[in-house]
Amino acid sequence: MNTISLTVDAQGIALVTIDCPGLPVNVATHEFTEQMRAATERVLQDPAIVGAVITSGKDSFMAGADLKTLQAAIDTAIASGPAAAPRFDTENRYMRGMETGGKPFAAAIHGAALGGGLELCLACHYRVISDDPASIVGLPEVKVGLLPAGGGTQRLPRLIGIEAALPLLLDGNPVPAARALEIGIVDAVTPRAELVEHARRWVLANRNATQPWDRKGWQLPGGAGALAEHASRSFYIGTAQIRSRTQDNYPAPLAILSAVYEGTQLPFDRGTAVEARYFAQLASDPVARNLIRTQFVNRKRYERLGHRPAGVPASRVTRLGVLGAGMMGIGIAYSAGNAGVAVVLLDTSPDQADAGKARAVDIARRASGEEAALRCEAAILATANYDDLRDCDFVIEAVFETRAVKSEVLGRVCEVLGDDAILASNTSTLPITGLADYSDRPTRFIGMHFFSPVERMPLLEIILGTQTSQETLARAMDLARLLGKTPIVVNDSPGFFTSRVFCTYVDEAMAMLAEGVSPALIENAARMAGMAASPLAVLDEVSLDLQQRVADQASADGLDERFLRNHARPVIARMNVLGRQGRKRGAGFYDYPAGGRKRLWPGLSEVYPPNPQQPDVETVRQRLLYIQALESVRCLAEGVITAPADADIGAILGLGFPAWTGGPLSLIETVGLDAFLRSCDALAAACGPRFAPPQSLRERNREQQLFYGEAHS
Ligand code: NAD
Repeated sequence: MNTISLTVDAQGIALVTIDCPGLPVNVATHEFTEQMRAATERVLQDPAIVGAVITSGKDSFMAGADLKTLQAAIDTAIASGPAAAPRFDTENRYMRGMETGGKPFAAAIHGAALGGGLELCLACHYRVISDDPASIVGLPEVKVGLLPAGGGTQRLPRLIGIEAALPLLLDGNPVPAARALEIGIVDAVTPRAELVEHARRWVLANRNATQPWDRKGWQLPGGAGALAEHASRSFYIGTAQIRSRTQDNYPAPLAILSAVYEGTQLPFDRGTAVEARYFAQLASDPVARNLIRTQFVNRKRYERLGHRPAGVPASRVTRLGVLGAGMMGIGIAYSAGNAGVAVVLLDTSPDQADAGKARAVDIARRASGEEAALRCEAAILATANYDDLRDCDFVIEAVFETRAVKSEVLGRVCEVLGDDAILASNTSTLPITGLADYSDRPTRFIGMHFFSPVERMPLLEIILGTQTSQETLARAMDLARLLGKTPIVVNDSPGFFTSRVFCTYVDEAMAMLAEGVSPALIENAARMAGMAASPLAVLDEVSLDLQQRVADQASADGLDERFLRNHARPVIARMNVLGRQGRKRGAGFYDYPAGGRKRLWPGLSEVYPPNPQQPDVETVRQRLLYIQALESVRCLAEGVITAPADADIGAILGLGFPAWTGGPLSLIETVGLDAFLRSCDALAAACGPRFAPPQSLRERNREQQLFYGEAHS
């Protein structure tokens, strides 16, 4: 089957239709490029053809690059340098040919035209888009650490001016049809049914179309270069804003700005050469690989349950029981109700359950309006009666975090549940294998650790007890998908994966504070590294009295020394003694003045006086990131996680680990195994054995075995 089909009508207009066979959306495959090149050549060379309309045979125009293919090419470029980066010479040549060949090309766009899809449209002389809400245009390459290398950084500014183009290039967010018309990316908006005919008419009426930038005397709208009126806003202030936003962790926005600045001052063809050079730099930088691999390829695979146990038939929960109508139970009930699942929400009294349901309905109302609220209202049955759980095929408990309460509730629910029903716990700290013993179904018992607020946090950490069956895992994953969550799979262990890694982060911050590292330096280094939450601020949020209880419980449970977080405990105890329990008290590591912004508590420097000699920010940054990376390696070595992607996706979605790293394990690959080991050895000598790299990592380095496949020589 062909990707591109070409038909010529009676008036000599070619209809070029893109329809990648076997794919849900059109992407720039090798076949696409080859056949599109051939199609444009035919249009230009066949004297019977007067011009062409390019459209899509699918419900959407074109999504741009195939990220999996791109990822493989980037891996090669990282290993061999920018010269090995993918190039788009063929695409650029045929698109330039379309522009300058003397025949009109018009794009008829319905659905999304993104990335390479929009770049193809920009190379046409005319663009018409359907008025459908699904019709959007955009250049999202910056989100994967790249820039549009099919002329996007050159044509868009030439078409609509640099100031209007920069937000589209730098934020990567698409715009709907009406906005695209307003800023001049498209020339017309029509109903979908009239698209192609509209484009045809334009082609007939514009036999000798050229691009504005190929006409004599053309000037870029709003001007280019250092002397343009907008130059200080676009380039000088723009650079400062980008650097402050990205902390220099993301190279793409600055490269885009440079490509636009330099390229728009040159003739078009030299502009695309500048674009290609910056693209090669980005495509050989691990940040692009990290973003593509974790955030797009692997995350999408996990969302589609590509890691689900094979051979278990697909399942769909028909009636979900939620035990405990507190913060988490409400969020879970809302997510299920919203997904069209009937929910039984149980608490200790009908009033408690009703209040929880009312809040779930309210979340629905605020998120999606009155209709969604009514759906949620109808889906949730609030009750205090266990008999109402009888027909549930899946139950998640989210009651108080004590063994006594959980054991009572689990025992009672098992009395009414059918044999086949699955029981899950949303515990954040209690081992799943132990909790399973309170039920009558250890093989059908599983941990489902949601994150707060449930309605917004995409991660679900699924925890296997020692007896949890593969069928139970598959059914829990099916439910995760139904609820719109991205599941990672973890084996039972103290703190599971996410809490265990996060504890090392706050513990390291506490160690530094106690050593005399300035609290402002700790907080700023965390932000500069790209952590979503700085450690002192996050401890204030979760509250220091709660932290104390968790730490005391861990000690009472006789947990291994390495899980006791011995640096954090004395600091947390001292802050509690001082009455500084965190944000809820208006006093923690920060002060929270009424109506004002929080600021670091000045008294902290009396409790933990900063040393006169402070470490450099890079050392602090390394300590905060590397301690988490090392713990992730230990989790992999101990079998707590079985695939690197579980760690990387879990850390980014659950802990706010910086996306540019690709996750804690990808970070090690980014730094380089050898360099990472050397830094950790130095940190171990300076700070203590917690930085001593696990043996498994040294072996990996010796064998040149990366976490994600073989090392490139
Ligand atoms: P919460 O205190 O807000 O809610 C607990 C609810 O359970 C309350 O409504 C309470 O009335 C109800 N409950 C208590 N005993 C009960 C019983 N015997 N029968 C029925 N209902 C009973 O707590 P939460 O923050 O929603 O946490 C619930 C669970 O989720 C805990 O295990 C917690 O560790 C876990 N968790 C919490 C978070 C978080 O950020 N809060 C994150 C992940 C997991």
